[in-house]
Amino acid sequence: MKQAAQAREVDVLVVGAGVAGLSAATAAAWSGKSVVLIEKSDTIGGTAAIANGSIWIPNNDPAIANGFTCDLESQVRFILSECWDGFDESQKWCGVSKETFLRVDRYVKSGLRVARDLTNTRVQTFTQLDKIFKRYFFSTKDSVDSVRQALGPNHSRSDDELAKAACSSWDYHWENKFNKVPYGKHIWAAFDLRLAGKFFFSGFRKHLWHIVQNMVSIRSLSSLADQIPNLFTKFWGFGSGLILVERFRKHLDRQKVPILKRHELVAVATNGDRVTSVDVQTADRQTLTWKIRDALIIASGCFSHQLTGDGVQDSYSVKSSCVAPGNDGDAIRILKNADVQVNQNPRPVLAQTVIQLAKEKNAISHEPVFYFYGDSFFLVDRHGRRVMNEKLTYHDRAQHHVGNAEQEFLFLVCDRRFKERYWGLGIAVPFDQKHMIVGNNESTLHEEIDRELRDNDCDFRLADNFSANLRETKIAFNEFARTGDDREFGRGKNAFDVLGYMKPDRDHDAPSRSMQPLAGEELYACIYGLSTFGTHGGLVCDEDSRVLNSAGDPWNNLYAVGTCAASFLNGHYPSHGMSIGTGMVFGYLAGLHATSNTKRL
Ligand SMILES: Cc1cc2nc3c(=O)[nH]c(=O)nc-3n(C[C@H](O)[C@H](O)[C@H](O)COP(=O)(O)OP(=O)(O)OC[C@H]3O[C@@H](n4cnc5c(N)ncnc54)[C@H](O)[C@@H]3O)c2cc1C
Repeated sequence: MKQAAQAREVDVLVVGAGVAGLSAATAAAWSGKSVVLIEKSDTIGGTAAIANGSIWIPNNDPAIANGFTCDLESQVRFILSECWDGFDESQKWCGVSKETFLRVDRYVKSGLRVARDLTNTRVQTFTQLDKIFKRYFFSTKDSVDSVRQALGPNHSRSDDELAKAACSSWDYHWENKFNKVPYGKHIWAAFDLRLAGKFFFSGFRKHLWHIVQNMVSIRSLSSLADQIPNLFTKFWGFGSGLILVERFRKHLDRQKVPILKRHELVAVATNGDRVTSVDVQTADRQTLTWKIRDALIIASGCFSHQLTGDGVQDSYSVKSSCVAPGNDGDAIRILKNADVQVNQNPRPVLAQTVIQLAKEKNAISHEPVFYFYGDSFFLVDRHGRRVMNEKLTYHDRAQHHVGNAEQEFLFLVCDRRFKERYWGLGIAVPFDQKHMIVGNNESTLHEEIDRELRDNDCDFRLADNFSANLRETKIAFNEFARTGDDREFGRGKNAFDVLGYMKPDRDHDAPSRSMQPLAGEELYACIYGLSTFGTHGGLVCDEDSRVLNSAGDPWNNLYAVGTCAASFLNGHYPSHGMSIGTGMVFGYLAGLHATSNTKRL
């Protein structure tokens, strides 16, 4: 391979060492051409390194091995119908734009080949997500019944297959009529003892204080017994995303592809429909000019940390973003004078954040933010009233904050058992106990929440009727839990509520697995606001990830992959895994396309 670093001339320059950039550099390097990957921060891995790491790829090899195959045309329609109001099967391109249709089609149909190529070349090893999530997606009789309920009466699957499905991770919008097999599509980087050991010990050291605080705060022996295994089965500060990016990094290292940290793309020079050179700023503020022979692949992430001024901040009242710090919308800014199409989609990918965590801009504790495991809890507004089925996914739950000043903040209320069992050590990062507000009863909880809001510089306050209403809400919820029938929001009525976010709990004795009456007078609460973990706008590309100009024609050698490209999800969230999935798949395809190596797949 040619040594590009000294020459400052390179065949393919990739910008951004997140999953999309790492995947693009890996694919481009197969051609033997010179490839350089630059990264403006001093860490490699971008957002995937702090993510759970699930990857949505229908008909992936582990799914096929388990007998869970699906019709890919239907999967294209599943995504389009979830994300685009104009979807109409009878229309050309299903009623959406040509580039949207072709990109969805390309993703759905190429994902399996990309994953297989990465596996065959030993760059990655993937496993089905359920292998790790078994604790949360369990195979008991009622979970099999839940899958049966989800599939409807006309399925032809055996109980064994249903039990396997019950352990698999599900698409969030599983009821979509095009989605006949709503599980089995999520893979992630397989467990690696050496890497896990390394990350485990660094995470353990980093979070030791929180772990000790959590353990000490647990009063019930059975909760403690339940939490201790979590110390060993959970890895603080990372999901398998870190293993995914670390494997890419090691492979590129072996291939001698330079990854230049603290090198920031600052300008792009063009001639007609080609990029000719780029300016890169180094840590010591030197500006280097790199001549581009074949292609520039930009994978610089989204604009989650630069929402102000894009119209997003106002309508969404976003408190924080948990994506990697470099996500400042550099691609759009740097190319603003070039003839490129930019999709200004203002709808970010949403999750809730605990307000104290929002202050630490990039901090996220997965457990209380993403997943609401457990049973004896509910979420109320400032009037102490429930507003939703709390088992909705994070993105759907977060919609309740949008454009609704009354619900700028919502309050999770639970009993001690819930706090000890489900919020202790965290699925990825242990939750700081000091963020949990405690009250001896509804009135003191009211006072304590208001105090916490004040301490966090929020003007928002609880309504005067909060504690009285909260008392009624608790009585009503406990009755729903005792009968297994949530007459207000139907929590626990569908298979997803029952299977997702729930681990077996030996103290649970109510009819619905998703609800248990709150025990005792003492109450705990946590304050939630709105957070983003991605944006949907970005550079508009064709199915080969070439950036389109204003006439809709592709640039000759300019590619955008990952979250700096406009997403076909259009502000929606049909399932988890589509962000790392599209980053990895389109990154890989762009790397092959840029080096005229598409026949490889
Ligand atoms: C907590 C959490 C959990 C998540 N879980 C999942 C999940 O399970 N599955 C899933 O699909 N998605 C998940 N996501 C989302 C997903 O991780 C990201 O959307 C995805 O990793 C983005 O990848 P990317 O390569 O496009 O961007 P990034 O990973 O953000 O990488 C962009 C990189 O470009 C660098 N960069 C930016 N500008 C420049 C420049 N000018 N010059 C050089 N470098 C630059 C940045 O420093 C950064 O390293 C999660 C996100 C979070 C925060």
